[in-house]
Amino acid sequence: MVVRCSCGRVEFEAKGMPILTSACYCDDCQRASRELESLPGAPRLLGEDGGTSYVLYRKDKVAFPKGKELLRDYRLEGEPFTKRAVASCCNSAMYLEYEKGHWFSLYRDRCVGPIPPVQMRLQTRFKPEAAVLPKDAPAFKAFPPRFIVRLLWARLAMLLGR
Ligand SMILES: [Zn+2]
Ligand SMILES: [Zn+2]
Repeated sequence: MVVRCSCGRVEFEAKGMPILTSACYCDDCQRASRELESLPGAPRLLGEDGGTSYVLYRKDKVAFPKGKELLRDYRLEGEPFTKRAVASCCNSAMYLEYEKGHWFSLYRDRCVGPIPPVQMRLQTRFKPEAAVLPKDAPAFKAFPPRFIVRLLWARLAMLLGR
């Protein structure tokens, strides 16, 4: 799968299947998406229901062949270990990275190619009150065990070199 900024100068490659696909409704993702999509020329990030969609990939499965030097870190106040990478050429948000983690949360709208539909909706206790969530995937008020388990499995596979 290819991950591309809206003008095409930054391009990544993500190999194999993602760890999972999700939409996050937490207050930090809402705030970050709102700030990032308000940058000049930036594409939209926030869904109409207040969710931000991600495709999670192991860090070792993502390569940065093109335009890596154009990436800029964007940090929200009060989120010391999390940064979001923005392509400075066109202000496209590319991914969210929890620096202590072993995965990238790629912004789904930047992903080109066959991607599984959203598999879980997370942190829905923060969703805007009026928002109606699509019924296509289970919704969780917080991070459910199955989310943690998928991340742990991915970590294990990574350690085993698979
Ligand atoms: Zn660009
Ligand atoms: Zn979030």
